[in-house]
Amino acid sequence: MSLPADSHVHSEWSWDTGGPNSLAAGRMETMCERAAAIGLPAVVFTEHFDFDDAWRTTPEDLMSHQQGMLDPDGYLRPPPLDVAGYRESIDRCRHRFPDLTILAGVEFGQPHLFGRRASMLVDVSLSIGSTVLFTLSRSVTTATSPTPCSGCGPPTT
Ligand SMILES: [Zn+2]
Repeated sequence: MSLPADSHVHSEWSWDTGGPNSLAAGRMETMCERAAAIGLPAVVFTEHFDFDDAWRTTPEDLMSHQQGMLDPDGYLRPPPLDVAGYRESIDRCRHRFPDLTILAGVEFGQPHLFGRRASMLVDVSLSIGSTVLFTLSRSVTTATSPTPCSGCGPPTT
């Protein structure tokens, strides 16, 4: 029996896991190791890629490692995706697991509002709902745009 690809995977590069300096560190490599061990043909990383600055929530809806992302007015302020770190991690895993197909993507929230901002950071090659497969732009190293663009949503900080 052959197994299908896992097409929606989050690693330490998604803000909701805690980030690459949290207990989630190394999750991408561990997932690839497990995928290769059980014979998956491919994994598709779909890290969270959010620009929304109007996302209200309550502490009860957040895990302990996410509590610091809630501002005093109840708005969630997740850190931006570290595009360069994510790309390096993908490259490292592709080198370590050459028989496993590893695709890089993002789970992009509110693309109708933030498409231009996102396109400054990633080159979209395939969109499946909110999941976008892409090649990372070479010139930008963080998901926080250094200069605002016309048509982008309000800045998130
Ligand atoms: Zn997801």
